[in-house]
Amino acid sequence: NPGKKNYHPINDAFWKKGEKTPYLAIAKTFEIIEENSSRLRMMEILSNYFRSVIVLSPNDLLPSIYLCLNQVAPAFEGLELGVAETNIMKAIGQTTGRSLQQIKSDAQQTGDLGIVAERSRSNQRMMFTPAPHTVEGMFNKLKTIAKMSGATSMQKKVDTIKGIFVACRHSEARYFVRSLLGKLRIGLAEQSLLQALAQAITLTPPQDNKNEPYKLNALENRNEATIKQKIEENALKIKTVYCQCPDYNQIIPILISDGVDVLPEKCKMTPGVPLKPMLAQPTKGVSEVLERFDGIEFTSEWKYDGERAQIHMNEKGVISIYSRNQENNTSKYPDIISRIELTTKDRVKSFILDCEAVAWDQEKKQILPFQILSTRKRKDANEAEIKVQVCVYMFDLLYLNGESLVEKPFIKRRELLYDNFQEVEGIWKFATKLDTSDMNELQNFLDEAVKGNCEGLMVKTLEKEATYEIAKRSRNWLKLKKDYLSGVGDSLDLVVLGGYRGKGKRTGMFGGFLLGCYDHENEEYQSICKIGTGFSDEDLKTHSEFFKDHIIKEPRSYYQSDSSLTPDDWFDAVQVWEVKCADLSLSPIHRAAIGIVDPEKGISLRFPRFIRIRDDKKVEDATSAKQVADMYQNQDQIKNQQSTRDIEE
Ligand code: ATP
Repeated sequence: NPGKKNYHPINDAFWKKGEKTPYLAIAKTFEIIEENSSRLRMMEILSNYFRSVIVLSPNDLLPSIYLCLNQVAPAFEGLELGVAETNIMKAIGQTTGRSLQQIKSDAQQTGDLGIVAERSRSNQRMMFTPAPHTVEGMFNKLKTIAKMSGATSMQKKVDTIKGIFVACRHSEARYFVRSLLGKLRIGLAEQSLLQALAQAITLTPPQDNKNEPYKLNALENRNEATIKQKIEENALKIKTVYCQCPDYNQIIPILISDGVDVLPEKCKMTPGVPLKPMLAQPTKGVSEVLERFDGIEFTSEWKYDGERAQIHMNEKGVISIYSRNQENNTSKYPDIISRIELTTKDRVKSFILDCEAVAWDQEKKQILPFQILSTRKRKDANEAEIKVQVCVYMFDLLYLNGESLVEKPFIKRRELLYDNFQEVEGIWKFATKLDTSDMNELQNFLDEAVKGNCEGLMVKTLEKEATYEIAKRSRNWLKLKKDYLSGVGDSLDLVVLGGYRGKGKRTGMFGGFLLGCYDHENEEYQSICKIGTGFSDEDLKTHSEFFKDHIIKEPRSYYQSDSSLTPDDWFDAVQVWEVKCADLSLSPIHRAAIGIVDPEKGISLRFPRFIRIRDDKKVEDATSAKQVADMYQNQDQIKNQQSTRDIEE
């Protein structure tokens, strides 16, 4: 029972050293995590499970991590589960003798096919007992299912699922089915998993001499504060390495064999493994930029409105392209790949470039809006059939010829970029830049950027505080968008939590939606507004069709909203929308950023408008509670109130 206080990784586990970890052990862990909504407790429970795995069957740590994340491979490999519900229902029906109709109606009632699978299992009698599932076995089988493709793959999948299903015990069927659906949803984000891993590896370090009896808790004689500090140090190391090398296949074996300290040395940035990109902070005008960068040298670049493209080439010449979200976009851009040689100079052997791919009108020689780019085929594009041409705007160089450049200042990285790559009209360009701190020049540059079909400017430090900060929303990059110039500034990227059924012309579909931001502190979605504006009829049809398949019976334990907002249907958190609004105000009913600006009130959006779906953002990448609070406080009227108060005090 990993939920036990003062857990002992050997005595409290139900399998023995050297045995393979039973899948039931991780299923039980999920069960207990699901019952607990406190993030700290959830991490402790997971860490206890990891501790047992580290001592008893260390090779199972890697598959355990993938099972927790509901992945079968690193995200950038693009291998996904997501088996269709009907196929799983068929498999459940065929193994338990229940009708498809019964299963469907149960699923509708409980809103969770996993639970239906678990309950259906217990009705069944068996002639012989199949061998119990192991963590490794289950992971391999899920991976095999994910890889099945082609005309006969559906039947093959159903047969494989049936084979696995008959051997499931207790809650195993629940988590197996949810994993297949890609909806494990135990409410545990990747950052917490990394924290739990650090806790486990600190409390139960992998042993050096495999033949000696295990010495439990190397930190035995230390006090609690020292242990806590050590956990935090290790967590920081693991998280930093994970940013540079987001690949558990590389990290976990090293962690097990050599420990945390050597990790930064052994798991380095590698072309072919995408990095989490550096992000910018919003500002509302040229004067705010000048204020923030007072005395610091900076440059401004046009902010192109396309799709972020991290272009990698390794020593063997293999090229890959990743999205903002580390998704593999290589097969989307065969045209970029075939033209790499036009931009690289001979001495370039390997690199990672940070760029924006922008739709380009070849005849008029001008940038086209983002909407045109989004009509391109997303996968397996055939170069000959490509209609929307792209021009790639290169703005940073993160790795060159075997060396990481992220610790170098931008002025140096930019120099290396200009020296090693070249421009080709309409195909490869350096981001248009201006190095000035003159207010008028900067204002004119912003106007030109907007005239040139750009969103505004990106303003970046050059020398001081100018390293590339992987995965950070840094103060050293500021974004200045054209429509910041009045009102709130930035748009928000929000998660759709539920839908209100439409009336009149909108009968039969959703006419409004409940949106939320993501609070990293508590790992929860907090309601921020209801939205019913900005949609075309076509949009509403598309959204209604999409969310029909994501309805859940009850809000997740990690949704925070007032009962007066309860939608007609709750949705799983699966999609992010970009939304603009007139302003942000304190709200007694919405929960966004509650406790940050006001102890009891949240923040809500006034007059929210739908702009577009953000396919390139995961739900955890939605605008955070902290960002919402910052945006609220940055509004002129709030700032003015604050300064009046300061004067009065
Ligand atoms: P955020 O999470 O910051 O809201 P976002 O994906 O919504 O990010 P924006 O806020 O619009 O994006 O701004 C950052 C994006 O601008 C980058 O991710 C990149 O794709 C794009 N971009 C365009 N031109 C540049 C440039 N010159 N330098 C850096 N990024 C640029």
